[in-house]
Amino acid sequence: MSFLQLQGVEKYFGDLRAIQGIDLSIQRGEFIVFVGPSGCGKSTLLRLIAGLEHIDRGTLTLDGRDITDAPSSKRDLAMVFQSYALYPHMSVYENMSFALKLAKEDPKVIREKVERAARILNLTPYLERTPRALSGGQRQRVAIGRAIVRAPKVFLFDEPLSNLDAALRGQTRVEIHQLHRDLGATTIYVTHDQVEAMTLADRIVVLRDGQIEQVGTPLELYDRPANQFVAQFIGTPQMNVVDTAKLPALREVVGAAHAPDGFIGVRPENVLVRAAGSGKLSGRVELVESLGADTLIYAHVGNGNGAGVQIVARQAERTTLHPGDPVGLDIAPASFHLFDRQGHTVPAAAGRA
Ligand code: ATP
Repeated sequence: MSFLQLQGVEKYFGDLRAIQGIDLSIQRGEFIVFVGPSGCGKSTLLRLIAGLEHIDRGTLTLDGRDITDAPSSKRDLAMVFQSYALYPHMSVYENMSFALKLAKEDPKVIREKVERAARILNLTPYLERTPRALSGGQRQRVAIGRAIVRAPKVFLFDEPLSNLDAALRGQTRVEIHQLHRDLGATTIYVTHDQVEAMTLADRIVVLRDGQIEQVGTPLELYDRPANQFVAQFIGTPQMNVVDTAKLPALREVVGAAHAPDGFIGVRPENVLVRAAGSGKLSGRVELVESLGADTLIYAHVGNGNGAGVQIVARQAERTTLHPGDPVGLDIAPASFHLFDRQGHTVPAAAGRA
């Protein structure tokens, strides 16, 4: 029996069917990440679980209890928002202890719980400060601390890092990861950032238009995407997905001569840049992005009719190539994905003889 179970969950906003029959089982202690493009319904789904929106159809059970219609305060969940939602006039200690005080917890127990959470989150020196006197990252940790002291059954995070700058986002991401390892608490985390999803999740739920596209571990989604949408949503830079009608030669190049009509996908790290004149494909460099550890080379590969496609290669080595230079390209063996015209994954075997 799963710990948190969603069955046929639906949500309407007027005529808009924002959440379209979601079935999902979450195990105790799992770190689940909801990702998807803007407007796909990930925040709404989290808010339905939190009890901040009413579920129009379907059921939600937590630890064997039906909480579909339970008020938010009775669900034993704690939510951390993007905006932190701290009380500005209260100290860090008061912010973190507020919910326990409301619940009439013994003051001695409150102090122990808050001090423990502050230690875990490196907030001990700041307990007497007000949020105004804290950095963005520290404020975010107070918001997390406020959730921790309540020892909820499930932590819900709604884009908690999106107000932080890139460096702090990376650092806080690592802290959240360690925190989950230490506390082992069941966590649902919403983000539109697929790097956060890949690094934090035990399992990722990819959403689009209020529906689940795929659920799996980060590497399952990366290696075996169920469709073109997931293939291109997970991984940066995006998987190259080429319409076989635009570059028919690619079928043979990747070893999928018998592929059905549709699209061929190749991850940038599986595109191998060769000297001009060698390699099974010939192209011309359009752009080089030198990222230090990685180099991205965007090449235009013609189809002989003046048209063609852009293919991006990612390599660990640096390059002396410049825009306009001719290059050869090869595709790493057995590294391709096939998609039909509707974008569904076709087994790679279908392309082989
Ligand atoms: P983002 O990453 O932009 O926050 P999201 O995936 O979290 O997007 P939601 O906020 O869940 O998306 O919204 C899903 C859909 O429901 C959108 O089309 C949105 O416009 C709509 N929606 C959300 N809340 C309401 C509301 N209170 N009233 C009407 N429509 C809403």
